[in-house]
Amino acid sequence: TKATYENIAADDDDVKAFLTLNKDGALKQAAEVDQQGIKADQLVAGIPLGVKDNIVTKDIKTTAASKILSNFTPIYDATVIEKLKAQNFINAGKLNLDEFAMGGSTENSAFQTTHNPWDLTRVPGGSSGGSAAAVAAGEVIAALGTDTGGSIRLPASYNGVVGMKPTYGRVSRWGIIAFGSSLDQVGWLTRSVKDNAQLTSLISGHDDRDLTSSTKEVPNFASQLNDDTNVKGLRIAVPKEYLGEGVDENVKEVIQAALKHYESLGAIIDEVSLPNTKYGVAAYYIISSSEASSNLQRFDGIRYGVRAKDVENLEDVYVRSRSEGFGDEVKRRIMLGTFSLSAGFYDAYFIKASQIRTLIRQDFEKVFEDHDLVMGPAGPTVAYKIGSNITDPKAMYMNDVLTVPVNMAGLPGMSIPAGFADNMPVGLQIIGKPFDEQTMYNAAYTFE
Ligand code: GLN
Repeated sequence: TKATYENIAADDDDVKAFLTLNKDGALKQAAEVDQQGIKADQLVAGIPLGVKDNIVTKDIKTTAASKILSNFTPIYDATVIEKLKAQNFINAGKLNLDEFAMGGSTENSAFQTTHNPWDLTRVPGGSSGGSAAAVAAGEVIAALGTDTGGSIRLPASYNGVVGMKPTYGRVSRWGIIAFGSSLDQVGWLTRSVKDNAQLTSLISGHDDRDLTSSTKEVPNFASQLNDDTNVKGLRIAVPKEYLGEGVDENVKEVIQAALKHYESLGAIIDEVSLPNTKYGVAAYYIISSSEASSNLQRFDGIRYGVRAKDVENLEDVYVRSRSEGFGDEVKRRIMLGTFSLSAGFYDAYFIKASQIRTLIRQDFEKVFEDHDLVMGPAGPTVAYKIGSNITDPKAMYMNDVLTVPVNMAGLPGMSIPAGFADNMPVGLQIIGKPFDEQTMYNAAYTFE
């Protein structure tokens, strides 16, 4: 634990991954673990791990990188944190993100922009950019992230780390500050596939407090990864839309080399089509913003969070607290979502987007009838320069074209380091059948 804080002290002035350090609490916890000893089933006892700051942590400030929650110290833990605490993990601190997880670069954080440790002039991706950068910089060996439309996979790709978004429902969302409730899922960013597999098993499983969490049995994913793990005969689908227009040539090259690797190990590679991919971004931004506009109603300056000063009446409390507390991107989404849900526009936007969502799910179902995995890039480019996309929301949204369909279909998706283009990491995205994270981990493991 001491070494972790030494690493953070050495790097984080440049990387800026952490919003809050839990140093005193962590050192105290570590001393307790030293005293108590470690039980055989406590895989993470005494290990400092990072937590994205939209995951609620008892007695540790939780801001979602928003001004409106800048004074919020929760009185309870998210289910994922409870599960890790039962294992005596050490919470190293809270990691930066785009405000309320809305964004793909951490530039939407109200507090700081995280820098990519591979090249400090570039973004770490987002919204779990703090989590990915902290792992890539060697500050912690693993960090929790969340993924609504790519927020684990895109930063994993940009930072050359392993990021898994499990199947929707695999992990409880209780205590996660909600963004798009039908899309949100918690997962890990790690350095190795095996660590990721191990940690995902630890946080998965049914939770009475999240009725969308699944009662399916949770496999011990890591126990199946060993020298005999192989991908012989595995049927891998490569959607032509994932290597088409808009994807950088040098990214394509890295992905094609990765596919060759699988072929050389005996996997069967097929080109397929997911024809509704092109509607994914438009439909995703309508659905996720609609859900966000509803979820963010609770930030009204009354119950918790920051309340505007010198207000005249109740309406003034709401209007001024929200106007002052939310950043531009969050306001843009609340407006877009409220509009899409409003009488007269609901059929044209929200319903239409929901229909597209069904088509996207059906595209995947068809491909999975005779394939085990889908593979392609996680993002169309490598990490770009800080500031280069921030004034153009549409350009920013287009970076999500290869990740949002996975959330819309509720599937598990991961990004693993596949190589480099322009001296920056490129992530191979692996998409699996619902609740078949095991096949994904197996395939990922043979690539390391
Ligand atoms: N970049 C996407 C967005 O801005 C995805 C975010 C996420 O997965 N939380 O909505």
